Amino acid sequence: MAYIVINFAGDVLLAQAVKSYLSSLDLVSSIYMIPEGDEISISLEKNNERNGNRLIKEILRNYLDSHNLTRYKIMELENILTVGIPKKIEEISNLLMCEICGWRLNTEEELLVHRRTHWI
Ligand SMILES: [Zn+2]
Repeated sequence: MAYIVINFAGDVLLAQAVKSYLSSLDLVSSIYMIPEGDEISISLEKNNERNGNRLIKEILRNYLDSHNLTRYKIMELENILTVGIPKKIEEISNLLMCEICGWRLNTEEELLVHRRTHWI
């Protein structure tokens, strides 16, 4: 049976809300979430499996829009659907930047390692 994983990027409350919403739908045959986790695994009734990801994306989009969560985006990456708010420019600019090529990094350490690539 095919599982669809939905990750909520650390938003545990939204994960719980969406879980109880999905549980109420007939097309979802089983649903699993680690307590206090931000990730749901669901499996669909057989006749809905083929278009599962697309179907779930539509359902999520409708759910988000009807709850005024329009800033949330649904991204699909290697069979995992991720629901979250894309980072704003200001948050990204908090990252460290390589002064040679403009590459952004999270830590001083990563920056030092990255800089070395320019010395080769
Ligand atoms: Zn660089």
